[in-house]
Amino acid sequence: MSEGTVEKTCGCCGCKFEAAVPPASDKEGDWFDLDQRPPEPMRSDLYRQIFRCPQCGAAVGPRLRRAPEDFVKSEQYITCEGNDLPEGCGADYYRLGMTAERDGDLATAFEAFLRAAWVFDDAADDASAVKCRCRCIALGEKFPPTSGYETLVRVDIYRRAGKWNDIPQKVLSERYPDSLTNLILEFEKKLARKGDTKAYDLEQCFAGLGIKR
Ligand SMILES: [Zn+2]
Repeated sequence: MSEGTVEKTCGCCGCKFEAAVPPASDKEGDWFDLDQRPPEPMRSDLYRQIFRCPQCGAAVGPRLRRAPEDFVKSEQYITCEGNDLPEGCGADYYRLGMTAERDGDLATAFEAFLRAAWVFDDAADDASAVKCRCRCIALGEKFPPTSGYETLVRVDIYRRAGKWNDIPQKVLSERYPDSLTNLILEFEKKLARKGDTKAYDLEQCFAGLGIKR
């Protein structure tokens, strides 16, 4: 195996293939976005963990996950459920999300749809990113967040998808045990009132609330 490649096994057809891995970033980032999109160098790891089987076209993630052939060959799978996302890492993360959801692994599916959105954020493809966030929202309705932290990620997804008004009222009116959660929620409300759907990181959040760190 040469440098810059990794050997993967397809969870659909079972073939082993060698996939190119983009180089790790040498950039230094600082803050996570409010939806937990990581800064560099972790940001570019997104592109180092998703592959496509050259034989059957199945999306292959960091670990082996079975996907039956009729599922991978289905219209739903190929078109990302009719979303017709541009081919690449974003569409493959979306397909990985579909596969994990099919397995009943909703948390991994949610993460994969969110990663798909981040890939489209990086490509400045807002329309595709919104489709992926809407998919997170639909999936999230099947399993409630279990912490203030998870709640904040979901709130940010609603705002960035332009679906703020669909957030269950209880989520917005609740007081959370830790002050950071409440502060970030206040910032999200402030953005939503302005109709702002852009990405913000925690530093911008503190600055927006007038908090010195
Ligand atoms: Zn395959």
